[in-house]
Amino acid sequence: MAAIMPRKKIRICVIGAGAAGLCAARHLSHDLESFEPAIFEQNITIGGTWVYNDNVGIDNNNYPIHSSIYKNLRTNIPLKLMNFPDFQSMDQKRPSCGTHEQVLNYLHDYANHFKLFQYIKFNTKIQSIKPQMSNENWQQTTFRVTIKHLITQIIEDKIFDAIIICNGHYSTPKIPVIIGIETFSGDSMHSHDYRTPQKYIKKNVIVLGAGPSGIDIGIEISDYAQHVYLSHNNTRLTSVLPLNMTQVQGIESINGNNFTLNDGTIIIADALIYCTGYYFTFPFLTDECQIKVIDNYVTPLYKHLINIEHPKMAIVGIPSQVIPFPLFHYQVQYFLGLLLNRVILPSKDKMLEDVKLNNGKYPHKLSHNQWEYNDYFANAVGVDKLPLFYKNGYNAIHTLRSTNVLQYKDSEIVVKDDGETVHINI
Ligand SMILES: Cc1cc2nc3c(=O)[nH]c(=O)nc-3n(C[C@H](O)[C@H](O)[C@H](O)COP(=O)(O)OP(=O)(O)OC[C@H]3O[C@@H](n4cnc5c(N)ncnc54)[C@H](O)[C@@H]3O)c2cc1C
Repeated sequence: MAAIMPRKKIRICVIGAGAAGLCAARHLSHDLESFEPAIFEQNITIGGTWVYNDNVGIDNNNYPIHSSIYKNLRTNIPLKLMNFPDFQSMDQKRPSCGTHEQVLNYLHDYANHFKLFQYIKFNTKIQSIKPQMSNENWQQTTFRVTIKHLITQIIEDKIFDAIIICNGHYSTPKIPVIIGIETFSGDSMHSHDYRTPQKYIKKNVIVLGAGPSGIDIGIEISDYAQHVYLSHNNTRLTSVLPLNMTQVQGIESINGNNFTLNDGTIIIADALIYCTGYYFTFPFLTDECQIKVIDNYVTPLYKHLINIEHPKMAIVGIPSQVIPFPLFHYQVQYFLGLLLNRVILPSKDKMLEDVKLNNGKYPHKLSHNQWEYNDYFANAVGVDKLPLFYKNGYNAIHTLRSTNVLQYKDSEIVVKDDGETVHINI
């Protein structure tokens, strides 16, 4: 009688043990009959960007510090809505938005609950990933992964069947070149290096960029600064701001301490904080992976997730203006469904056509499309959709924030028993 051969497990390499990598570990570990997971994390601990670091610059291993979290950061999404849908332990009602310590504790609770530490190899940095095509069938591709052990400095190569990239997308500062910046002798930094506000005492500060970081940091330093100029070219914020914080146009040029704005106004400032966002970077992907980042657009990715050239490689967490943890939950399960042949991809041509639809200034921005995006994945793999209170709560906090950036984080969040209705009370 012929022996029944055990099914070969799919060897999966996960890069990073932040929220996305932990989510990958959680779902991989749920099916150990099919998967053999290995999660590589360069840091000594889990949590990624939520691991606050007083220092800036380089870490103990001579690599750039990964986290962009500052000391007093509070979340800009209610904790209740940040929960992974299968582990809803953050239940704080007021203040709805929490501290970074609370989020990190939550990620530890998640990792402990699902017993994830056993799959994580700390102090290991992925240095390169090279696909090896055995033939034209993408399902046969394997990947040669080069791993550096940061304590021993040993470098080893391993072969994996699939790759989940969870390296985080808020670590490499994007700093625009401003005409005359070399003449500015004041203090300038990117928000990645911002930790505390005290050094801005009695200063006139220009905060460039009015995304979540620009607004939050501007408000925080307004308690110390003489004046904060929130410089941006977006539609004007309609919210009340601190009395010593005003919105001005974007910066056209700098001459010494004189900042000429796009409308010709001149402002004199002692300090400049760039809140101008981050670059997507994948320094470990070899050219053969065929992933390009063009004007901060990562391509060719099907559904902002799957490498169309090598579909056994996924990059988690690319979409912006979303609730990240729930989105990771669906992205990961969809990708695992694909590896298990439970999800069938469209033809390559169709996927490349699909990619062309991502245009405009922010091609990875999902915003109100995130719910449909999550649902698509949930339906494809047959798992529960995201409960409606996430969407309703997100919309409600968004509305409050647009009129009250000063107080929305202190609001109360109440989710009704129907699991849908949300009240945000100021
Ligand atoms: C200032 C700021 C505020 C934010 N506020 C919120 C908020 O209020 N609510 C919210 O939901 N989200 C917020 N976010 C978004 C946040 O980034 C996501 O919530 C989420 O934590 C991202 O998880 P991640 O796993 O994708 O990335 P990260 O948390 O960045 O984790 C990536 C991990 O990969 C590791 N890594 C990278 N490269 C390698 C390599 N080559 N080899 C091995 N390991 C590697 C890193 O060390 C890190 O541990 C905020 C982000 C920032 C920067």
